[in-house]
Amino acid sequence: MTLRADVPLIFERSTPGRRGYRLPELDVPETPLEELIPQEYLRTEPPALPEVSELEVVRHYTQLPRRNHGVDVGFYPLGSCTMKYNPRVHEDLVSLPGLSAIHPYQPEETVQGALELIYNLSEHLAAIAGLAKTSLQPAAGAHGELSGLMVIKAYHNHRGEGHRTEMLVPDSAHGTNPASCAMVGYKVVEVPSNERGGVDVEALKKLVGPNTAGLMLTNPNTLGLFDENICQIAQIVHEAGGLLYYDGANANAIMGVVRPGDTGFDVVHFNLHKTFSTPHGGGGPGAGPIVVSEKLAPFLPGPVVQKDGDQFRLVMPEHSVGRVRSFYGNFLVYAKAYAYILSHGPQGLREVSATAVLNANYVMNKLKDVFELPYERICMHEFVLSGSHLKKYGVRTLDLAKRLSDYGFHAPTVYFPLIVDEAIMIEPTETEAKSTLDEFIEVMRQIAEEAKENPEMLTSAPHNTPVKRVDEARAARHPVLRWKPEASGEQ
Ligand SMILES: *Cc1c(COP(=O)(O)O)cnc(C)c1O
Repeated sequence: MTLRADVPLIFERSTPGRRGYRLPELDVPETPLEELIPQEYLRTEPPALPEVSELEVVRHYTQLPRRNHGVDVGFYPLGSCTMKYNPRVHEDLVSLPGLSAIHPYQPEETVQGALELIYNLSEHLAAIAGLAKTSLQPAAGAHGELSGLMVIKAYHNHRGEGHRTEMLVPDSAHGTNPASCAMVGYKVVEVPSNERGGVDVEALKKLVGPNTAGLMLTNPNTLGLFDENICQIAQIVHEAGGLLYYDGANANAIMGVVRPGDTGFDVVHFNLHKTFSTPHGGGGPGAGPIVVSEKLAPFLPGPVVQKDGDQFRLVMPEHSVGRVRSFYGNFLVYAKAYAYILSHGPQGLREVSATAVLNANYVMNKLKDVFELPYERICMHEFVLSGSHLKKYGVRTLDLAKRLSDYGFHAPTVYFPLIVDEAIMIEPTETEAKSTLDEFIEVMRQIAEEAKENPEMLTSAPHNTPVKRVDEARAARHPVLRWKPEASGEQ
């Protein structure tokens, strides 16, 4: 890890008159600009662009990412986010012209291969979910939730049960779950967790009723725990006339091991940009496909690809909730997921999950004597510790997170899930070697020691990074997200 703390962060490098290029003398008659562009569109003054040499530009863009943390730089155990390594070969693959140079307005018969890819990927995801039909349309996890809930709503409405407007959501849920409910106009009914970190079944029985539209669940949940009562939970919700929604944003523990459909779920969304090999984190394109049971298939967002003989066609499902995205979604993300699934095969995907679970349990067991482990159980692909015992030294989980940067590790997810005080949510993923996990364990133990001996070291961290501790409130309220020329006075 080479974080260059010694190099000062000089961002503004413009010097009047400096150039990165020079065009050759014009050897054809010059056409006046006004003849090419209408007068009203012409600038009266040149834009205030930085004046820099080519080398300075190259250095600038080479330095910037070196000041950042990414999975290519070091361990990234950001719980719930599955910051695994994504094979580089997939980037080569999606730059093939047959995939990257096609256009959504092309006639169907000229893009049969692309449609076949969409069709096959839909089938594979349905097999992994243990459900019938897929729509690849949604562009992200939260978008998948929204689309899945729209499908549930359309189904109830179609049956004349539009009064079902209550969605049950456990208190451990990802924040997007209640938010998505609100977006479709559902009332969120919070379900408490039991002492084992799962759904409190007795409380659930009291909360279901004639207005229940369904239950949204993540299983394993955000504590990294598999709910052992899932079949009973499904029965309770189904008997009340509700449907089960599976937040499968993070399916890294279950592929080839458990099919959500077999445990009673009616709708599943996956995040291709978490589990299925699309890098994420910078807000880049993702995909949050949904898979549903046979009875919900007519309501899926469209278009979806249908196979007629050896032809692939785009069709709108009979009672479709409509389009949720332009064209056919983020096609190149599909191509990466398809390559990932094919190259692993069923056994390989199962191994991905097994290794992710093994790695998480290994790290958990090596840390549970120095951090509190609120739920002492075998975890799935992630686990949640509590840093509440550090408070007596004046140290918060946030300080620990900052201190980890000094050692070249990205922080785990902190303060989530909300039901654990000073939560530290760690997801190692399957792509990390044991030696990396051991280094992380060592550093976490060392930081726990530092908290006792030298709490100031943590509360003033990070010390070795190019940017020291930021004022988070100010960063959130007054973010500076783009470069503006100093002289322009532009707001
Ligand atoms: C990441 C995540 C989401 C949201 O996915 P986005 O693609 O960021 O919208 C939803 N639920 C869970 C459990 C997640 O981990």
